[in-house]
Amino acid sequence: MKSYIFISLILIFCISAVAQDVDKQKTNLPDPKGKARFEIKDRDWPAKFAEASVCLWKNDAIGALSITIDDNCAPDHEWWTEMGKKYDFNVTWFVIASTVSGSNAGFCGTWEGFAKLLKLGHDIQSHSLTHLNQESPEWKDINMEYEESQKRIEKNIPGHKAVVLAYPGGKNSNLNDSAVAVKYYIGARGTTGSVNATNKTSYLNTASMSGVICYGDAKWESQDLKSALEKGFAKNKDLYRAWYCCHFHQAKPEVRSLIEKQLALVSEKAKAGELWIGLFKDVVKYGQERDTAVLNVKESSPDKIVISLTDEMKDQIFDYPLTVKVRLDPSWKSLKAEQGGKKADCRIVEKDGAVYGIVEIVPDKGDAVISK
Ligand SMILES: [Zn+2]
Repeated sequence: MKSYIFISLILIFCISAVAQDVDKQKTNLPDPKGKARFEIKDRDWPAKFAEASVCLWKNDAIGALSITIDDNCAPDHEWWTEMGKKYDFNVTWFVIASTVSGSNAGFCGTWEGFAKLLKLGHDIQSHSLTHLNQESPEWKDINMEYEESQKRIEKNIPGHKAVVLAYPGGKNSNLNDSAVAVKYYIGARGTTGSVNATNKTSYLNTASMSGVICYGDAKWESQDLKSALEKGFAKNKDLYRAWYCCHFHQAKPEVRSLIEKQLALVSEKAKAGELWIGLFKDVVKYGQERDTAVLNVKESSPDKIVISLTDEMKDQIFDYPLTVKVRLDPSWKSLKAEQGGKKADCRIVEKDGAVYGIVEIVPDKGDAVISK
């Protein structure tokens, strides 16, 4: 009987320890207040067999790009869909939730229309409930703007999660409040016109360029995607390998050919493996997982490597795989990877005669086993 009580006590202790661990997980990283979280380095090429590291960006890209569109813009749905197919990228639609399927559906769109875009691989996220429109019968306060828009999206597109926000602009934009946004979202897009230095990203108020993807032709180096992809282009070293986020409003027919030129250029950069064009929510997840990640090579033998990857973020939401690069031996001609009993994406790359595995691993989902 005594040992029974003892075992029960141990069990209770273990369960509460696990519960505490989950509680300690972060929903968002605090603003770094201009302080670098780490040093920006070139792509890493581990020197010894079984050495591994987390890549700065998915698929070991040099920089990242997110394309977002605000204010519903239904007349552009078809054109952006066509562009996405032609140049192989997806966009994030930040929608004003109270206007969808309303009296102005011609411009504001319908839930069926947005569900269709989602099915194609694009994303639907929150641009608040009324866009800070205090004349709207739905307006109440900033909490309602953020909370209710999330609920509205999730109710009207069943199974879909709204996890990021774009702060509405306009005359009432002073009402925006990141302390309220963090209650509902893991990231929020602001409108400061620059790239996001990867080591200083403020995930709850990211910078974003309005209506343009500048490559080598921006007024300032801090507004240029070339700063992110070409080492030495920017004097500020922190801009190398940055995340360029941009937001469009209406793409009227007369500006479409200009935007398409920029899309064609970034699509070439993506095809060459230099640029990751990621959904806003995926970049926000990748960044915060990476910034808190701990990687451990637990086991290595000539034909098997076991890697554990953990982070400090909330696992129910932060479920995006991080790209891990691991040094192999030239005798590895093929590669298999699994995590938690499930197949994981992987490939082999060669550099200067050395062989590396590129493996997609989700933090806190169990050890990844890499084998020949
Ligand atoms: Zn807006």
